Amino acid sequence: MTLDLSGKTALVTGGTRGIGRAIVEALADAGAKVAFTYRSSSETADALKTELEAKGCECFAIQGDAADAAHADETVQAVMGTWGSIDVLVNNAGITRDTLMIRMSEEDWDAVLDTNLKSVFNFCKAAYRPMMKQRGGTIINISSVVGVTGNAGQANYAASKAGMIGFTKSLARELGGRGVRANVVAPGYIATDMTSDLSDDVKEAMSSTIPLKRLGNPEDIAAAVAFLASDAATYITGHTLHVDGGMAM
Ligand code: NDP
Repeated sequence: MTLDLSGKTALVTGGTRGIGRAIVEALADAGAKVAFTYRSSSETADALKTELEAKGCECFAIQGDAADAAHADETVQAVMGTWGSIDVLVNNAGITRDTLMIRMSEEDWDAVLDTNLKSVFNFCKAAYRPMMKQRGGTIINISSVVGVTGNAGQANYAASKAGMIGFTKSLARELGGRGVRANVVAPGYIATDMTSDLSDDVKEAMSSTIPLKRLGNPEDIAAAVAFLASDAATYITGHTLHVDGGMAM
């Protein structure tokens, strides 16, 4: 079955680079109109918008901090004002501030929890009423293998990503009766700017422990998101889809 999202509208947070960018491109390639947010990389956002428009995709980009509730409200209102519906919401924006707990500052904790988890609350809250009124929509939250397994040096990140899973299951229960689905995609180690600091030796060591023997690509995650966004997944909600080469099973 080819995935067809034509006529659907989508909003992706953190869509300029890495996994978010691949998600934006996959949804656009499947025919959706796509809005995306970013924090600071305006030039990259403009270039992506030009690339998508050249392919015939209706799109726009909005700059802001996903941790800011007013920004989330304004962004969802912009999607509703432009297209009249919000069919797909992908909460992808995220950061790391890795260090062992002994050295982790309150600021490291707050920055990661605000950007990774509060942002999900912000955008889901903003989209909740429109999706309820539409009696349809799908929310996809990008968690991490680390939210399931934990990882030394990532207590803040793991807490944010595990929190997202409980949050999404709760939304799935609240909104299922209105035809709104909510799912999680939990990537393993994916080659993006976020993981680019790792040395080749570390990457090789990590790959050897992954059953599929390689790091993932942003496109591996985007394909799973496009599937969950599509009508091929209309009976899937409250699910955590592991896209990690078999790391967490
Ligand atoms: P990148 O660092 O490559 O890209 C992050 C994107 O999020 C950028 O577009 C960035 O915008 C945006 N962003 C960051 N902070 C904010 C903010 N406060 N408000 C709005 N946008 C923001 O990350 P990845 O692509 O690697 O990761 C994407 C998601 O996938 C994250 O949630 C991450 O936790 C998760 N993930 C990643 C894994 C990996 O191995 N890479 C593994 C598991 C999960 P800008 O360009 O303007 O800075």
